[in-house]
Amino acid sequence: MVYDTGFGFDLTKETEVKELYSKIVILDFPPRSAQRPIVCQLVKKYDLMFNILKARISSKKEGHMVLEISSAGKAAFNKGITYLKEQGVRVSTPEHKIYKDEERCTHCGACTAVCPTDALYIKRPEMEVIFDLKKCSLCERCLLTCPVRAMGLFSDDLKETA
Ligand code: SF4
Ligand code: SF4
Repeated sequence: MVYDTGFGFDLTKETEVKELYSKIVILDFPPRSAQRPIVCQLVKKYDLMFNILKARISSKKEGHMVLEISSAGKAAFNKGITYLKEQGVRVSTPEHKIYKDEERCTHCGACTAVCPTDALYIKRPEMEVIFDLKKCSLCERCLLTCPVRAMGLFSDDLKETA
């Protein structure tokens, strides 16, 4: 099969695209671990990729991170998580997620100005505000900013407006 790339050349071979296993996790580091490069080992030792969505160190030197971790499969992901736990890191998954109520949204764009991860962005030329849940770091800034309360929280069995 020949693919027209639109750049003046053709690809004559299909490119193998591996399906990534990806999950958002919350990591809480005890003080003895917060300064160590534990997360970097996920790449070096376990061939995982990560995207830091949120990170902070408290006054007590405890670390808190929200990461999106991606791997070639669930088994590789689990090995990385086991390693984190062995280092004393508490690993949990978000109890809630953010949702956008499309019926309420007026596409005013206010939330895009406060979203730190570009999970909310303006699609041009339509000028529609799009929400990409995969990029959301759960910072909740958009909940406070939206004038019509179109952004809200939900958990698996609970849906509530902020
Ligand atoms: S601030 Fe609210 S109404 Fe405005 S674009 Fe964002 S979600 Fe929609
Ligand atoms: S909670 Fe709202 S502002 Fe924060 S990253 Fe998610 S979409 Fe963006």
